[in-house]
Amino acid sequence: MMKRKRIKQLLDNPATGEDVLVKGWVRTRRGNKNISFIALNDGSTINNIQVVAENSAFDESLLREITTGACLAVSGKLVESQGQGQNVEINASSIEIYGKCDAETYPLQKKGHSMEFLREHAHLRFRTNTFGAVFRIRHAMAYAIHKYFNDRGFYYLHTPIITGSDAEGAGEMFHVTTLDLKNPPLTETGEVDYSRDFFGKVTNLTVSGQLEGELGALSLGEIYTFGPTFRAENSNTPRHLAEFWMIEPEMAFYDLEDNMNLAEDFVKYLITYALENCSDDLGFLNNMIDKGLLERLKFVVANDFVRITYTEAVSILTAASRKWEYPVGWGRDLQAEHERYLVEEHFKRPVILTDYPKEIKAFYMKQNDDGKTVRAMDVLFPGIGEIIGGSQREEDHDKLLNRINELNIPIKDLWWYLETRKFGTAPHSGFGLGFERLILFMTGMSNIRDVIPFPRTPKNAEF
Ligand code: ATP
Ligand code: MN
Repeated sequence: MMKRKRIKQLLDNPATGEDVLVKGWVRTRRGNKNISFIALNDGSTINNIQVVAENSAFDESLLREITTGACLAVSGKLVESQGQGQNVEINASSIEIYGKCDAETYPLQKKGHSMEFLREHAHLRFRTNTFGAVFRIRHAMAYAIHKYFNDRGFYYLHTPIITGSDAEGAGEMFHVTTLDLKNPPLTETGEVDYSRDFFGKVTNLTVSGQLEGELGALSLGEIYTFGPTFRAENSNTPRHLAEFWMIEPEMAFYDLEDNMNLAEDFVKYLITYALENCSDDLGFLNNMIDKGLLERLKFVVANDFVRITYTEAVSILTAASRKWEYPVGWGRDLQAEHERYLVEEHFKRPVILTDYPKEIKAFYMKQNDDGKTVRAMDVLFPGIGEIIGGSQREEDHDKLLNRINELNIPIKDLWWYLETRKFGTAPHSGFGLGFERLILFMTGMSNIRDVIPFPRTPKNAEF
């Protein structure tokens, strides 16, 4: 038995004259009475290998089953290609059909389906060139993230997915319960008695690993989390998912400036990694999805991010001769239209905004001496808007406690967090990078549902 080779292997290091065995799915088949040209893809690369079959050497019934989408094993000699478009091809000596694919009913028989159609066929969309490219890049980015942090002495810390705290404040949460919703236990006052729930209290899916990440950083030094987070926000936008992955580094002894430097270096590293390691897939996406993709990626790597305060940004937006859908004014949160104006029209490059009003940011951010702003930073990207949100954290116990009280956050949910400020507190900082927003930027795709294999959005959890 010959050992199967990946198509990528054959195309990267073609040893012509050798007998090879490949397995994969038919992308296209063309030819005439005498000869068939089969483009075969096995997922190892965006590129297909061309299989050439003399029709007379095969059963007619077998040839009939070689249709788009069918799965085959092919053995034959690897030879230099006579035709254009590829260097090598396989002269098939034997073909085995693993899985037929009926041309009448196969939903992806034709090319050029809309993204909406493919989303409705998310169980099959992996078979397209576009989604193959996107998910190979997604994999490469996950690997590069771990490599980046590992090479720099950060520890990968696993924070919980089920959390007993609903004080994270980053969004609406999904409840986790084993109580019978039709007949829940009740307290004497008629409320649901969560003390009889699985964990003996109300629990939710996490919206962020940050608070737990801080516990790790305040002993391990530099940590990062990389896991799924859940937000029950009913926002049907091309930038929001109900289940998304987030990378959250948290570093002891980093101030906001160190935090910004890390964020900028990190994202530039990831883009560089993709340019160096995913060139075939990026080239395909640049041709088929977004003609400006490669140029934009290279531009972001080559240029410094602009760093300005929220207050400066508000002045720029106020001075802009522009009608906003949402009003601009000091104290109001910035909307996507404002963020994108700053990045895409005013500065024409990524922007880091700092020092936001404390009212529109989370309770744990370090308070500035002005009494009005906090040491927040949002990194804004072209085509995306906010890609990273972070801050220097408030390390002073009393200031933090005051803010928690001002916001009426129950201490019973946060006593453990406050203890880090009581016992050996330290200045520290961190941020959260939305993995899917990064992949949107990396691929030029325009909807976040198309960069995660199984998107979870309101009213959608089919696949
Ligand atoms: P936005 O204002 O865009 O909703 P946010 O302020 O809620 O973002 P953070 O809580 O700071 O975001 O989360 C950190 C990062 O996680 C964001 O910068 C973004 O990249 C990503 N993110 C946040 N919410 C979502 C979501 N619902 N789906 C996908 N990514 C998200
Ligand atoms: Mn949000």
